[in-house]
Amino acid sequence: AAKEAGRNQWCFFDASMQAEAARRLALENALRAALDDPADGGLSLAYQPQLDASGTELRGLEALVRWYHPALGAIPPSEFIPLAEESGFIDRLGDWVLRTACAQLAAWRAGPLGARFAALTLAVNVSPIEFTRPGFVERVRAALALLGAETGPHGLELEVTEGLLLQTDDELIDTLNQLTALGVRLTLDDFGTGYSSLGYLKRLPITQLKIDRSFVAGVPNDPDDAAIVRATLSMAHDLGLSVVAEGVETAAQRDFLRRHECDAVQGWLYARALTPDDLLAWLREHQVPPTPG
Ligand code: C2E
Ligand code: MG
Ligand code: MG
Ligand code: MG
Repeated sequence: AAKEAGRNQWCFFDASMQAEAARRLALENALRAALDDPADGGLSLAYQPQLDASGTELRGLEALVRWYHPALGAIPPSEFIPLAEESGFIDRLGDWVLRTACAQLAAWRAGPLGARFAALTLAVNVSPIEFTRPGFVERVRAALALLGAETGPHGLELEVTEGLLLQTDDELIDTLNQLTALGVRLTLDDFGTGYSSLGYLKRLPITQLKIDRSFVAGVPNDPDDAAIVRATLSMAHDLGLSVVAEGVETAAQRDFLRRHECDAVQGWLYARALTPDDLLAWLREHQVPPTPG
């Protein structure tokens, strides 16, 4: 009977693995096709507000890619980004994201609420793999041209995870320095979830850390999360880095972060990632225009 059960189980896993492989292949082909005509293929960007520590003033936006496939429905980036990385077209996807985000910010700056966008930062997520591809700096330069500014201050920030630091070599440091020379600021995303040593904070031109949502979720009540967030803030500030907290959902989290001098906050407490139209509506409703002068 045990043998029987074992065999059935094997068949079960085999079938589900086959189904998963089939879905992967379908997604991969669909994504490849979508990249030929991104708007038609269901790709878009959503923009999530980042606010200053007081949670009142809009400071910047993070662009987050969205994919709604006509037949397969909404696919989350946590599913299709790794797929694009493994299938070798992450740089095509990343290039589209970067250009679309920069063109959108340029359009906003030229539009009716332009003054409200003038000083905003625009954060774009970049896969560690993209950094190591030849021509990456040139692609960033081309995207900056869409923003109408090839050197700073244009507000472009790139968010990259600690995965980047597993491959630290002279070439990578050279790439990061070239980006910095273009006025691009580098943020380390999901800080604290990777495996790298802290020494890179000294060696690399990173200017900002983003505390991962998993730690923010635990404050103020979980003593370990509270300790990690406090230590991150204090270390970052001592090193001259600014800190953003992601995934802020409650007033208690906000109060804790403010008390410990976090520089900026982002999360559902303030706003979700919004379509360009919804972002304009949100700005009209929630934000006080900056006082002139
Ligand atoms: P991330 O860069 O750490 O982005 C934060 C994620 O948390 C986003 O999920 C965002 O929608 C979500 N989020 C924001 N505020 C809250 C909150 O208060 N509570 C909760 N529970 N979630 C919140 P999303 O959009 O599904 O993106 C997931 C990840 O996919 C991103 O994590 C990033 O690593 C990756 N990703 C998204 N867009 C891009 C892109 O254009 N390029 C690349 N390479 N990766 C991207
Ligand atoms: Mg991010
Ligand atoms: Mg993050
Ligand atoms: Mg995250």
